[in-house]
Amino acid sequence: MPTAPQQPYLTRLTLPAETFHEPRRDDCPWCGSDRLDTLVRMPDPARRTPGTFVLETCRACAHVFQNPRLTADALALYPRRPYGGHGGARRRPAAARAVPPAAEPESWLDVGTGYGHFPEAAREVHPYTCFDGLDTTPRVQHARAAGRVEEAHQGELTDPEITARLRGRYDVVSMFHHLEHTSDPREELRAALAVLRPGGHLLIELPDPGCAFGALLGRRWAPYDQPRRLHLLPPRNVLAELEAAGCTIVTVDRSGPHVPYDLTGAVSLALARRRTAPALAVRPVLAAATALDRGLAPLLRRTRFSNACRVLARKPGSAP
Ligand SMILES: [Zn+2]
Repeated sequence: MPTAPQQPYLTRLTLPAETFHEPRRDDCPWCGSDRLDTLVRMPDPARRTPGTFVLETCRACAHVFQNPRLTADALALYPRRPYGGHGGARRRPAAARAVPPAAEPESWLDVGTGYGHFPEAAREVHPYTCFDGLDTTPRVQHARAAGRVEEAHQGELTDPEITARLRGRYDVVSMFHHLEHTSDPREELRAALAVLRPGGHLLIELPDPGCAFGALLGRRWAPYDQPRRLHLLPPRNVLAELEAAGCTIVTVDRSGPHVPYDLTGAVSLALARRRTAPALAVRPVLAAATALDRGLAPLLRRTRFSNACRVLARKPGSAP
């Protein structure tokens, strides 16, 4: 329940306050350890919810997660941002090339596709591939109407009806900055493997909570993206999970997916707290941060300051 000083925020809300958060859990959702530390606390930048968002980290496996987690109704107040922001349009073809065109995939499902901009870009790399899209929002219907995907599947990949309908259909399943938004990323991985054909490829891109910018910038590190991201998975945990499922890790790229936005995002979050700052004073500061992000990216993307990771794994079985 909100405390007295937070009551003014309640006038902005469309939900009863008690439905914002689920009960706080006292163990890690990835490994079950009870050795949890508070990583960051941050106020709601949009002031739609009372109180703060809390990210905790597990000392046993380094998994990072929102605790207490927002309810589904509360999360609906914060629609996720489509993949491809902050220069992402330039990264999409490179992400598509992670699957070698020589593999000649016939069918590809992009999970969390939004408006289908990734399939649109990937078609230039894989012109003979049939791309389908899955998303929890009606954005995927727009993607089909715009001709960016052949089939639009609206819902959760873990929905038993959807998993059963799509089982074993795809040569490639891609998930770009998607797992961190799901309520159970392990179940999401299992569902992704279920809809792949034997020998098919799973392509995942996700933020790396071990990035040095996270320790440096704290609650102003943009990839925390609260409250939209429920989990931040250390890439090594994802690799171990895939290997335990019998997959072969084909490539791990820690430099190409780096998003040069850490300093710009931190400055933006800091300035958002100072809403009275005149625009003429804000622009040069943001421009300087953006220049630093872009200028340092060629160097930083090869270090622990790289903020994302791309994994290509092959499901066991005969090649499709
Ligand atoms: Zn853990």
